[in-house]
Amino acid sequence: GSTAAPTTIRQVKLEKECEFRVEVSPDAPLRLRLLTGTAEIFGTEIPPEIWLTFPPRLKCAVFTWYGATIEVDGTTETDYTADETPMISYVNVHAVLDARRNRAKASPGNSDASQGPRVIVVGPTDSGKSTLSRMLLSWAAKQGWKPTFVDLDIGQGSITIPGCIAATPIELPIDPVEGIPLDMPLVYFHGHTTPGVNVDLYKVLVKELAHILERQFAGNAESRAAGMVINTMGWIESIGYELLLHAIDTFNATVVLVLGQEKLCSMLKDVLKNKSDVDVVKLQKSGGVVSRNAKFRQKTRSHRIREYFYGLSNDLSPHSNVANFSDLCIYRIGGGPQAPRSALPIGAEPAADPTRLTPVNINRDLLHSVLAVSFAEEPDEIISSNVAGFIWITNIDFESKKITCLAPSAGSLPGKYLIQGSLIWYEP
Ligand code: ADP
Repeated sequence: GSTAAPTTIRQVKLEKECEFRVEVSPDAPLRLRLLTGTAEIFGTEIPPEIWLTFPPRLKCAVFTWYGATIEVDGTTETDYTADETPMISYVNVHAVLDARRNRAKASPGNSDASQGPRVIVVGPTDSGKSTLSRMLLSWAAKQGWKPTFVDLDIGQGSITIPGCIAATPIELPIDPVEGIPLDMPLVYFHGHTTPGVNVDLYKVLVKELAHILERQFAGNAESRAAGMVINTMGWIESIGYELLLHAIDTFNATVVLVLGQEKLCSMLKDVLKNKSDVDVVKLQKSGGVVSRNAKFRQKTRSHRIREYFYGLSNDLSPHSNVANFSDLCIYRIGGGPQAPRSALPIGAEPAADPTRLTPVNINRDLLHSVLAVSFAEEPDEIISSNVAGFIWITNIDFESKKITCLAPSAGSLPGKYLIQGSLIWYEP
């Protein structure tokens, strides 16, 4: 008999246009490498021979256009090979976008013709929006474009922590393990993981972000021609639908990709039928998209916050700072819940201003709060300013009037004003 430790390494052979779908187990990472042929993960080619390590709970697919053999090391939650995927239709969309980028690049000056495609991806939760956005960005980057990624999903953002809308240029195909580099994204803080808490604030922030990008595009022909890919929330009913229309309009989207819902697609086609410069395209949802329940989403959010401070593999060393109560200027936006209609005189409307700033006194509720550090120089600039980063309150000492917080790095904060939303994080 053999005395060697049991090996968990196995080979998977993929025929052309097939994919290996895997959910990494919740408590151990998975290693994977490409042995022969070529393969990609969500639009990014994987290098031959090199072992890639995927963190627990990650769900992904290794797709091959021409056939490949991969090697997998470790146990998985589930894994299987699929020969039916919507990849051909996705790459066809990419080809159309690519042609439009070339046309934009060839057009002089700041004319409308020099604007590349502005793609917005919409659909219900778990329809594969983030994944399709990622593929389109990576395929574009592979061809040398620097498209701008805009993420309007404040529930499960992929650029920064939850509760934010953000944008960043994508200069290289997105790393299948590391995700989007956190270099210098343009981030606006809503502070809540659903826009319903303050819809007006969400709209204001979307407008601010669009406005800044518009300005950047005006001065940068390269990013203008590359255009943008905008990922949205899975909330597509009532106010969610209204917010989609608001985003399409605010960013002047020219291509609307609708994933996995006939009804949404026909509604959008109908309202946009008079806009000849907007194409609404229905795309099939991939059978590989994994549904994530509320608990899983909550966990993912919490992991994103941990990743912000500690890095994906604990490779960052955040810094703990102590400050006096009097040193901190914390604000909330929206001044709490509105008075119920029943408490008002007949005919009166609830009057709370959703973008009103309320100073926050240091109180117990701040413990474990994640606050945004605004770039604003005056309080009245807070709403319209983007944020530099985040801090996490780890201790409040009411006797000595000192507060301890964790920041990504040592030194003074990049701004004086802090914004509190409803983000709370408990270190696991
Ligand atoms: P949405 O943005 O619409 O909520 P996502 O794109 O985030 O949906 O997809 C949901 C989950 O399914 C993600 O964890 C993603 O990695 C996974 N996923 C998407 N496509 C595939 C696929 N083809 N095979 C395996 N997992 C996939």
